Amino acid sequence: MLSVFDALAMILQNVQGTDSESIPLSQGFSRILANNLTVPYDSPQFDKALMDGFAIQANEGICDLSVVTFQVIETITAGKTPAHPVADGVASRIMTGAPLPVGSNCVVPIEQCYFDESSPETVDIPADSIRQEANLMRRGTAARAGSTLLNAGSRLQPQQIAALAEFGFGTIEVRRQPRVAVMATGDELIPFDEPLQGGQIRNSNEPMLLAQIEACGAVPISLGIVRDNESQLRTAILSGLQYDVLLLTGGVSAGILDLVPKQLKLAGVEQRFHGVHMKPGKPLWFGCREDNQKRCLVFGLPGNPVSSLACFELFVRPALEELVGARSRKMSMVASLTESIRVKGNRPTYQPVAISMLDGRLIAQPVPWSGSSDLRATVDANGMALLQPEKGNYQENDIVEIWLWGDQRLI
Ligand code: AMP
Ligand code: MG
Repeated sequence: MLSVFDALAMILQNVQGTDSESIPLSQGFSRILANNLTVPYDSPQFDKALMDGFAIQANEGICDLSVVTFQVIETITAGKTPAHPVADGVASRIMTGAPLPVGSNCVVPIEQCYFDESSPETVDIPADSIRQEANLMRRGTAARAGSTLLNAGSRLQPQQIAALAEFGFGTIEVRRQPRVAVMATGDELIPFDEPLQGGQIRNSNEPMLLAQIEACGAVPISLGIVRDNESQLRTAILSGLQYDVLLLTGGVSAGILDLVPKQLKLAGVEQRFHGVHMKPGKPLWFGCREDNQKRCLVFGLPGNPVSSLACFELFVRPALEELVGARSRKMSMVASLTESIRVKGNRPTYQPVAISMLDGRLIAQPVPWSGSSDLRATVDANGMALLQPEKGNYQENDIVEIWLWGDQRLI
């Protein structure tokens, strides 16, 4: 049986990236940039004041005096162009962000100046406040025209949207969001808003997976519940193959009604693997279907809710990131266990944990968990920790590899 590592490598090998599209910057949050962008012009575009104060020319020798008097020749507010240069003995009142007048190499903050606010014809400035290059920013200091602004594959965050706005990128080229369809299979399933009858359970996997897809920045598509019936399954699978990714839950293990692998193959989906050496999630199925150069990645997720959850995070999420060429892949981190825990069985186990921060380090608190069907346990967790069977018993403070689920925060 494949290891988690090899299964993931196999999945990523089969990913063909999505194409790109142009969108308005206002819709760019969290989208993946399709191309490298360079800074189109120097920022700032002009030498500018960083404080409200007086723009002067600071010269050597001025410091012999304790206070220097300057004649005030104009007031420059942000957005205005200075009309006069400054030279020896001349100052312009200036506001934060306004262009410096020619000749100025120093801005003295207003708090350090003495002047008559009602008629500021002159200003007295203490000599020790006069320093060359103080409180100003020279053209191009923040960004030089032609330098890198953002690389392809960046997931656009608010500060990056702002930088794109600053440089006038009103339309941006981003990768198309993958459309990911979810189909729940099982005779026992009913929609979550219907009353239960004997032996039935509610379809909880589908809303969970739709939310996980959304958290990845992909487009979730609900295909509802399909019965454990060969022809119904086949028809539903064929309609699901039009999307970039098709997720099925249930029907991939060894039960007599686990019909999904056979029906996927009959629908033309080529199996890449069936089964991964892990717990939960061992029955995971993965394959691809190629149609007119369009590829659909198909995951048969085990029906047990915690298996579906873990398999999505370990395998589907990286595939979705790869589909859009995201540069920063979500990676595991390490944390200290808050208590001892024993690994049962011989498979690497992904134990639900509550991950938080204590004294500057990550800690993982195992939640009481009775296995792949114990969805309730996951409600108190925000991620999972990998426990290796060879180690057997883990002690408090042992370091483990952890994953935060989706974009969840520390508890
Ligand atoms: P299966 O993989 O179809 O054998 O299902 C394994 C277990 O997961 C069974 O107990 C199912 O009832 C349960 N299960 C399957 N699909 C879902 C679903 N969509 N929501 C919640 N539980 C499910
Ligand atoms: Mg089933």
